[in-house]
Amino acid sequence: MTEKQRAAAATEALKKEYPEAVCSLDYTDPLQLLVATRLSAQCTDARVNLVTPELFEKYPDVNAFAHAELADVESVVRPCGFFHTKAADIIEMSRQIIERFDGRVPDNIDDLISLQGVGRKTANLIVGDIYGKPAVVADTHLIRITNLLGLVATKDPKKVEFKLKELLDPAESNDFCHRCVLHGRAVCVARRPACEKCFMYEFCRNSPKKQR
Ligand code: SF4
Repeated sequence: MTEKQRAAAATEALKKEYPEAVCSLDYTDPLQLLVATRLSAQCTDARVNLVTPELFEKYPDVNAFAHAELADVESVVRPCGFFHTKAADIIEMSRQIIERFDGRVPDNIDDLISLQGVGRKTANLIVGDIYGKPAVVADTHLIRITNLLGLVATKDPKKVEFKLKELLDPAESNDFCHRCVLHGRAVCVARRPACEKCFMYEFCRNSPKKQR
């Protein structure tokens, strides 16, 4: 099986098992997803979702965030950890969106990563989930599972992103990433992947069958 064939097999298998491929962060507009994703660094999506209703009620748009008091944003986002840096980034990225992008969240990776506190992972999430473009969100689940499957052989997020952009159908890449997160929580968990009940057992490079 070639890498491309394995990628196609994994894409189909994941799609069948997890037909719903959605981001687990709650949001109603592009800026809210950008803010929620910034808060999700080293924090669970569930905890972010507990914090963002109050945050988005207090700051309903980019102008409100851009003119926010740092201490006030800090007090709301404190449960997400690294609250000082996260709050400062949210305010500054909002100012930059107003100054350089006319108040609109950019739709391409280069412009997104030019914003304070926005890395490639966040940029890909915005490009894929908001603008419906091909994207690869190289989060911890995706990196682990695609290494196990034998699609990549690196832990470097940027290398994983670029390699998967070569291997995956562009129309499926964004959903593939969301599905890997679901699979990483349900079956292919970090410490002990449940290979015996995995629907990718037959072709996964790391399945016990392949190692025999
Ligand atoms: S066969 Fe095992 S290692 Fe491979 S994807 Fe499934 S659970 Fe993960």
